[in-house]
Amino acid sequence: MRYAIIGAGLAGLTTALEIRRADADATIDVFEATDRIGGKLLTVPFESGRVDMGAEGFLFRRQDAVDFFQSLDLGESIVHPSGLRSILYSGDQATTLPTGGVMGIPGSSEAVAHLVSPETAARIDAEGDAEPIDWKIGGDVNVGKLVRERYGDEVVDRSVSALLGGVYSCTADDLGLRATIPELADALDILAKKGQKVTLSGAVRSCEFARSKAPSSADPVFGAFAGGFAQLYEELAEQSGADIYLDVFVSAITRDEDGFMFTGAEAPYDKLVLATPAPTTALLLKSLAPEAGETLKSVKLANSVVVGMKFDSEEGLPDNSGVLIATDQDGVKVKAFTFSSKKWPHLAHQGGALVRASFGRFGEDEITRADEDDLVDWALDDLKTITGFDGREAGLSEIYTQRWFGGLPRYDENHLATVARVRELIAEVDGLEVTGAWAGGVGIPAVIADAHAAVARLVG
Ligand SMILES: Cc1cc2nc3c(=O)[nH]c(=O)nc-3n(C[C@H](O)[C@H](O)[C@H](O)COP(=O)(O)OP(=O)(O)OC[C@H]3O[C@@H](n4cnc5c(N)ncnc54)[C@H](O)[C@@H]3O)c2cc1C
Repeated sequence: MRYAIIGAGLAGLTTALEIRRADADATIDVFEATDRIGGKLLTVPFESGRVDMGAEGFLFRRQDAVDFFQSLDLGESIVHPSGLRSILYSGDQATTLPTGGVMGIPGSSEAVAHLVSPETAARIDAEGDAEPIDWKIGGDVNVGKLVRERYGDEVVDRSVSALLGGVYSCTADDLGLRATIPELADALDILAKKGQKVTLSGAVRSCEFARSKAPSSADPVFGAFAGGFAQLYEELAEQSGADIYLDVFVSAITRDEDGFMFTGAEAPYDKLVLATPAPTTALLLKSLAPEAGETLKSVKLANSVVVGMKFDSEEGLPDNSGVLIATDQDGVKVKAFTFSSKKWPHLAHQGGALVRASFGRFGEDEITRADEDDLVDWALDDLKTITGFDGREAGLSEIYTQRWFGGLPRYDENHLATVARVRELIAEVDGLEVTGAWAGGVGIPAVIADAHAAVARLVG
């Protein structure tokens, strides 16, 4: 059997490995547009060690992902964060993140009292007495719109968007509730199904209650690889035994009785997996499943930039994992900082510090194209404003700037319905599968799980 996979990111490489595991004799060819494998996973060699410039950690509480890494013999390389907390910069002050609530959405004013005005605090506490939410069971709504309507703008701009933005590179106004915080959408469903009054505070409190009853785990929440994510993508490529063709931008695919064919392929393939970002996948589906392609076009991508900086001294850098920035904070250009050498003990360097500055949310495309010198200046200025740490004085010895054009798909309130429809249409085309961050979730465990499911359907 001959398999072609388009895209050598995490989804494509996981797909290649899983096909190999299911079919030892298969011909597996992976076609990648750029000159490297890994996609949004990118480990770069700083003089002081390897540092990730894309994803920097994964949810260790996802046992399926941990089992997968162990099956690759990577278990021994998994490392964990220091446990230092992140801080929030809002109202010109570095303060604590909201306590409790769900993704910055509070169940009572207590969680965000240090961030919002007394009027907003009172409004949160009175939300249970307001008119119920007109909630459609199983549906989705815009996170920003819902929280603005129920609690007001401050909660969205100072808390929810800062937290969601750290994961999705979007503000709450560009994201769907079920698409990004499914436990809260489920809690709203339950209130509606039970015929109880549907309120945001009620749903958040039931999430908090469910969490308090869940068995506690001593396991760390996050993990990473001691040698960076390169360990993962290199291992996937190696163990898959696939032939990987770099610098092949696949632009159109056709299918006839002999199989799938495209420029760059020497002979037709029996089966095809598209493991590319949504807009590219939409394009590649044009002649294979036109309606699926048209539907998928609606998924847009958020650009971002990561600037990695190595300082000779860490004196004055606070003992925190990083900082998230409120979206209504004036005078600051970064979206977040990760104090990598504080967050990850394996990146701690004697007498030095590693800091990652992240810029750009959905729609903020100008900043992604800014000059490197400007980006570094903004990062140093903002770091000083927020923490007092003077990076220029500390000695900036290394810089790496990574622009992520189309870094993350936007999971808006139509996203889940779009993906469901695309999957339905793809299922009608024999031998074709799609997978990737747009399909089953942006987090690393979700991308791996989606690729596993695609291979299970394909290989049967
Ligand atoms: C800055 C950043 C930080 C992140 N941090 C985290 C984190 O800490 N934890 C976490 O869990 N997740 C994180 N993520 C998300 C996670 O990294 C991604 O969701 C995941 O790596 C996406 O994998 P993928 O294979 O679906 O897509 P991609 O990595 O985008 O791979 C798709 C591949 O297809 C190739 N391609 C595109 N078009 C074509 C074509 N026409 N022909 C051939 N090849 C093509 C691309 O070049 C690319 O290599 C982060 C993402 C970004 C951008």
